[in-house]
Amino acid sequence: MLYPRPLQRLLAELERLPGIGPKSAQRLAFYLLRSAKDENAALADAIKSVREQIHPCRNCGNFTDENLCDICRAPRRENGQLCIVSEARDVLSIENSNEFYGRYHVLGGVINPLDGIGPSDLRLDNLLDRIADENIEEVIVALSPTVEGETTGSFLASLLHEHVEKVKVTQLARGLPFGGDLDYADQVTIAGALRGRREL
Ligand code: ZN
Repeated sequence: MLYPRPLQRLLAELERLPGIGPKSAQRLAFYLLRSAKDENAALADAIKSVREQIHPCRNCGNFTDENLCDICRAPRRENGQLCIVSEARDVLSIENSNEFYGRYHVLGGVINPLDGIGPSDLRLDNLLDRIADENIEEVIVALSPTVEGETTGSFLASLLHEHVEKVKVTQLARGLPFGGDLDYADQVTIAGALRGRREL
């Protein structure tokens, strides 16, 4: 059965979203068909304005609707620690851990030669200046434990050691997921967890 054209258009737009297949798109579309007109208008407006009003913080690359994000504007976040992440959404993951109180630097990707992404494609222009200006003593590399993440981490470590005196460069421990079963962990994860072990 062929849907009316406006409905086909909505389905096509919804299916573009990550994690939304034809079935979910249908469910959402029929929900929107039944919901109040002003609710739909509010949703459409939120989708439109998020793209118009949100942009990268000019200091760290985190999402903001101002020149500087909340974290860069907060003086108490200048605690000598800088956490380097790949994407702005990673800032939220680390914030949610409630374990880190310093500032961030968003690279906007990781080095990936197969996709033609090199160091010059990453947001690195102001990184060295930031380390000096914001009195950074420790840089925490918080990238995904993938080949690309490891490559980018090694690149960052040599860049920092070459240009900055007295900065500690650390990376997130490679370990076992909480609630995971040792039996199911692969050997790379177990090796990483052993290297990152700590005293009880
Ligand atoms: Zn910022």
